[in-house]
Amino acid sequence: MVTVVIRAPTLNTPGHVVVPGEFYEREKTVSLEVVEADKVILIHYTLTDDEGTVLDSSRDDEGEPLPYLHGHQNIVPGLEAGLDGKKVGDKLVVDVAPEDGYGVRHDEPPQPVPREAFPEGVELEPEMSFFVEAPNGQPVQVFVASVEDDVVFLDTNHPLAGKTLHFDVEIVGVREPHPSELEHGHPHGIEGGEHHHH
Ligand code: ZN
Repeated sequence: MVTVVIRAPTLNTPGHVVVPGEFYEREKTVSLEVVEADKVILIHYTLTDDEGTVLDSSRDDEGEPLPYLHGHQNIVPGLEAGLDGKKVGDKLVVDVAPEDGYGVRHDEPPQPVPREAFPEGVELEPEMSFFVEAPNGQPVQVFVASVEDDVVFLDTNHPLAGKTLHFDVEIVGVREPHPSELEHGHPHGIEGGEHHHH
């Protein structure tokens, strides 16, 4: 929060005659902590499915909030829309339909790929994701569905595709982005000072 001093001509309320040159001054506290495009937002969230099962939470492990750059598709569209215009300190539940979340699940079964097609030494676990090249040359994100002996099953469904998502969110911070964060379209850590190369 910041305090600004407002200096303006006297209010022209009914019955009040504006005297030229007459001003009033008052202090007003305004919030610069609104969730809007091109700001880095810090959120704590717990994600549950329709059954109430916790799928993910920022309060796990280190318990650090998740930073994201608002308006840059860092998070699922339904959650981003639900947070737009909210303020630091707001707590809310955002329900996200599959089409505004991780997509509608399609029926194509996971495709088997020999283990040897993957780099050696990489431990393959369910839900890991990779980008592979589709026949049209476009990169497609695939997810490890299961690993059976020498065969890895790859699914183009996101593990959370088809699920209605319930985000219990608290907005814990809003800050201006560093220029490199805007350029990259994502935040570089909570403070923005983490360096990396693309
Ligand atoms: Zn970056």
